[in-house]
Amino acid sequence: MEDSIFTKIIKREIKSEIIFENEKIMAIKDINPQAPIHFLIFPKEQIETINELTSDNSELISQIILTATELARKYNVAEKGYRLVMNCNDDGGQTVPHIHCHLIAGKRLKWEF
Ligand code: 5GP
Repeated sequence: MEDSIFTKIIKREIKSEIIFENEKIMAIKDINPQAPIHFLIFPKEQIETINELTSDNSELISQIILTATELARKYNVAEKGYRLVMNCNDDGGQTVPHIHCHLIAGKRLKWEF
């Protein structure tokens, strides 16, 4: 499998604003933010889409969500509110084939398609 942009960021081959990292998870600022706060949280393991999640790797999702909630508290948006989004494949708007969760906040979000 070719390295994704996020794997290249993990390997420090591409620069990014890293806001959290541990053994399994990384969080960065989105390069093209859609709101005042727009972070991406992803596993270091390169899993292409959420369709590939199984009972063997599904604990990564709880770690991703818990990281997102910690970041929401750290950046003072937990009480006002935020949105977590995981896009899957073309119709879902996924452009990077490495599962990731968007944390979007800092303004009143609309719900339009
Ligand atoms: P998707 O469209 O797959 O759900 O989300 C991919 C996100 O990755 C997009 O919001 C896009 O702006 C972001 N992105 C793509 N390339 C880079 C990059 O090189 N650095 C950072 N920080 N974000 C990126």
